[in-house]
This record gives sequence, C-alpha cells and structure tokens, in this order.
Amino acid sequence: MSPHGPMIPHSRPTIGPEDVEAVAEVVRSGHLAQGEKVREFEERVAGFLGRRDGVATNCGTSALHLALLALGVGSGDEVLVPSYTCVALLHAVRYVGATPRVVDLEAGSYNLPAHAARRHLTARTRVVIVPHMFGEAADLEPLLETGIPVIEDLAQALGGSSRGRPVGSRGTIAVCSFYATKMMATGEGGMLLSDSELLLRRARDLRDYDGRTAHTTRFNYKMTDLQAALGLTQLAKLASFVARRQALAVRYTAALRHLPVGLPGPTPGSAHAFYRYVIGVEHAPRVARWLCERGVECKAPVSCPLHRCLDLDGFPWTERAMNTALSIPLYPSLTEQDVATVLSVVADGVRREEALPRRALSLRS
Ligand SMILES: *Cc1c(COP(=O)(O)O)cnc(C)c1O
Repeated sequence: MSPHGPMIPHSRPTIGPEDVEAVAEVVRSGHLAQGEKVREFEERVAGFLGRRDGVATNCGTSALHLALLALGVGSGDEVLVPSYTCVALLHAVRYVGATPRVVDLEAGSYNLPAHAARRHLTARTRVVIVPHMFGEAADLEPLLETGIPVIEDLAQALGGSSRGRPVGSRGTIAVCSFYATKMMATGEGGMLLSDSELLLRRARDLRDYDGRTAHTTRFNYKMTDLQAALGLTQLAKLASFVARRQALAVRYTAALRHLPVGLPGPTPGSAHAFYRYVIGVEHAPRVARWLCERGVECKAPVSCPLHRCLDLDGFPWTERAMNTALSIPLYPSLTEQDVATVLSVVADGVRREEALPRRALSLRS
C-alpha cells in the first residue's frame, strides 16, 4: 500500500474463470506433464502464426537456447543482438558458447536498427536475434536479405502484426515467452516455431533427455500440460488482449499528448501491440520512483542493457534510452479507475520535469 491507496502494479496477467477451469481439468485428469495439451498448444500457436509447427518449452530463454542449438551455433560463432533488450538473449548466446556481438540503438526506435546491424556482420556471424521490443514490429527486411538466419524474439510482441502479417511469421525461427506478464501467460513457458522440418526436429529432440541411445549433452526443457491448458485458453483471448492494449494506448496518447513527454507511436508501416507503453522523460529512474511512491508502479522497460552486462563502452543511444524510457502500466485487466489514476499521476509526475524542452526527450522525434 502506498499512502494514496493500493499500488497499481506495472504489469499483471489477465486470468478468467475459463483459464482456471482448463487448468483444474488437467489437474483432475492426473496427466500433468507434457502430453496431448502441449501438442495441441504447439499446433494452435503454429496455426496462429502461420508456421509449420512449434516446439513448446518451459520458458522463453530455453526456447532461445534450443533455437541456437538447432541452428548449430557454438563456440567460435558470433550472434548479433541489440544491447537494448532482455538479458535472456545474452544468456542464451553464451550458453551455446558463442560470442555476442552487441549493436546500439539509433534515433527514432527502441528496436534493433536493421541497416546499422548489417554493418556489424562479420564472416563469423551465424545468427541475428531480433526482438520486437515493447510490442512494436522490428524491421527485418534488410537482415533477411543477407541470408543469415534470423531468430525473431516475440516475447513482447505475440499477437502483433506488421504489413498485414503476424509478427513472428518471417524469421528462420520465432521464439515466444509465456511468462506470467507477457502478452499471454502460462506462468512460465516458451515455444520456438519454424517452417523448417529439420530445425523443428532438432529442437524437439534436444528438449528431452530420456530414451536416447546417443548420450550427447542435453537437458529437460519440457512444458507441462498444466501450462499448455492455460496457454490454450489464453491464446483464444489473445486477439482481444491486443485490441484492449491498443485501445488503451490510444487513450493514453490522447491524454498525454499535451505534456512535455516523448510518446510511443508506431513507425510507418509497422504496427504496435503495446506490450509496453513507454514514454520518454528526462531522469526516468527518478520519475519512476516518484510515481511508485504515489501508487503507480512504473519501471525502466529494460533492466540491464547487454553492453553494460559485458562492460562495453559506447552505446550512446542505448544509454540515452536507459535515462529516458519509462514504462507505465498498460494491460488488459486495468480497470477504468486504474486508467484514470495512471493518467493523472503520470501527468503530475511529468509536469515536475516541465522545464525540459518538448519532444527532445526520447528517441522518438
Ligand atoms: C521475457 C523475455 C525473454 C525471456 O523469456 P522467459 O520466458 O522469461 O525466459 C526473452 N526475450 C525477451 C525480449 C523477453 O522480453
């Protein structure tokens, strides 16, 4: 509790009675581990994204790890990644023994700048991982043109679309996370999807350790039917979740437009699923603390950019984003009262920084 009432959390899953019933049904059935529900969930997500098939895992990080293993990435190889993203990418790359090659942002977007990324490709680059940050579709075209395998990271963008196609329908492999507060939830959970039978077969094989004759190093990355049952009921509601997020974003933008703040806006030709509503303010960490004290939990949308984890210098645009990007609560289960509170408290917080020049504040022009 803040002095002003209960805290509005930064994010929260959206769970209904049908979700509860689906999980209860699996519990009652006694078939808890990976089984029919997982298989059905894989087929449904693959159908949703228009991919050949999916391989469900226990989390998004393990799906990334399996994606790299399936592509044969190992020591001596380089994997291109943006700095401004989830640390899970760094761990997956290092776990296969590869070297992360980290790319800075550019003005105008929180996504990996595809043209700049191309200039970082070397003879040893085996894969590029492209996360669609905060729900905004990243530009893939210049990277797909190179022929180097692209892993699309949908952890923050499942249910989004770009140029009339689902986000996640184009990369060599697409990776999802169903962590509790992602676009849809299974508690923990992930999936990799592809059109390549070979990659799918390798990933499916490496997900499990049992019953193998060749004892190469492997692990247990399986999802349970409990999680998959929840995934199925959540997936059925995903389109409505995205629509609700987008409708809230329109309202936020209308309410915050006249304030000295950088606002998210989809870049031309791409769409935004609004996993996060990220505004640009000077001294974002200080503003976040102020807002939290007033009952609205706001956060830096990236906790540790990869170049800092690796102690690399440079990366001025990513550093700029760390100083200015502020994620305010936006998710389907916000009530009307929550929305009103978020907007009024955020407006108050932003006005305190009012001396600063308008719109020069974020990466957004
Ligand atoms: C959350 C997230 C992951 C990791 O997913 P987990 O299910 O938490 O392992 C990977 N990439 C991005 C961009 C994420 O936001």
